[in-house]
Amino acid sequence: MSAQNPLFIPGPTNIPDRIRKACDMQTIDHRSPAFARVFKPAIAGVKRVLGMGAGEVFIFPSTGTGGWEAAVSNTLSPGDTLLAARFGMFSHRWIDLCQRHGLNVQVIEAPWGQGAPLAAIEAALRADTGHAIRVVLATHNETATGVRSDIAGIRRALDAAGHPALLFVDGVSSIGSMPFDMAGWGVDVAVAGSQKGFMLPAGLAILGVSPKALAAIETATLPRTFFDFRDMAKAYVAGGYPYTPAVGLIAGLAEAVEMLEEEGLEAVYARHHRLAEGVRRAVAAWGMRPCAASADLYSDTVTAVLVPEGCNGTDLVRLAADKYRVAFGVGLGEVAGRVFRIGHLGSLTDVMVLAGLATAEMCMADLGWPVRLGSGVAAAQEFYRGSVPAMLAAAA
Ligand SMILES: *Cc1c(COP(=O)(O)O)cnc(C)c1O
Repeated sequence: MSAQNPLFIPGPTNIPDRIRKACDMQTIDHRSPAFARVFKPAIAGVKRVLGMGAGEVFIFPSTGTGGWEAAVSNTLSPGDTLLAARFGMFSHRWIDLCQRHGLNVQVIEAPWGQGAPLAAIEAALRADTGHAIRVVLATHNETATGVRSDIAGIRRALDAAGHPALLFVDGVSSIGSMPFDMAGWGVDVAVAGSQKGFMLPAGLAILGVSPKALAAIETATLPRTFFDFRDMAKAYVAGGYPYTPAVGLIAGLAEAVEMLEEEGLEAVYARHHRLAEGVRRAVAAWGMRPCAASADLYSDTVTAVLVPEGCNGTDLVRLAADKYRVAFGVGLGEVAGRVFRIGHLGSLTDVMVLAGLATAEMCMADLGWPVRLGSGVAAAQEFYRGSVPAMLAAAA
């Protein structure tokens, strides 16, 4: 890939120079007060981005997958029951991780392209009169299909059923890019990673943990060492870590939060929505449609584009990489070949997105797909011209 071309995979995302520079630092002694000066702003910043009330943020040298493992291994015991819907590769992988930990996952299967099925979740919770279900898992943004689920709706289902289960949310590809309201939605564990909305290299699992989830640790017996929240909490009190932290990445995380807050979180979310809407206009102009089944499910961070009959989305991704040095996402699992994915999250502008759309069109033309060059780009251009944020327009 050319280092100049932006990436259009839904993570890892483009790394702004400010963040690269913040990560690039000389070694410090992580057991000295210098570390707390790097670390504390990062923790405080993540709390704001998550919209957390009381509770703790834990940052592990790991990735989002490690965050899933930390969430369940700290709060559950072998044989415990969870409730989860499966509607894409990422919801599937969290379920698989739980099963491999000896947990009993009650799985609600939903078609890929749909979101978390609220009525079925509420029905399952109501049917569980003995309250065997300890945790409900939810994938906020299913990155494989470009579907955003209604986490507030899952909270309402729990409340309507009067069910005490904890609510764990995978926000790896939404947090920092789409509204996330941990306190308002009553989320007990929120999982994020460094390499998506936070615009950093991969290497951190970032978790927000509610007091209710922290209390569950005391009775949970799944084995855990590296990911033990209690060791982390104990070390935090002294301003440190139970082992060697990824200091550069943590410095970068503090910078990332500063960038998000300088822009303003609401403006960041509005930017993602606007970029995504331009992509969706382009997809419609190509005569195609998103894998997400309806507009209320559209993700503002990734669009999985269903390709025409007889075409293969993976061909487009390969050609874009080989010929134009631009990265798009391949289809995963059930939708392998049937979609290609345009990531539109992180450090990205309308102008960058137009370059990605233009590249996708060149590939379609090269592959003989029935798409006219410029059609999607023009649709996105029309949308972007007419929707410049007031702040930018005023500066012009
Ligand atoms: C990227 C992603 C993950 C996993 O992240 P890794 O950092 O690769 O472990 C989990 N869930 C979702 C929704 C993702 O997009």
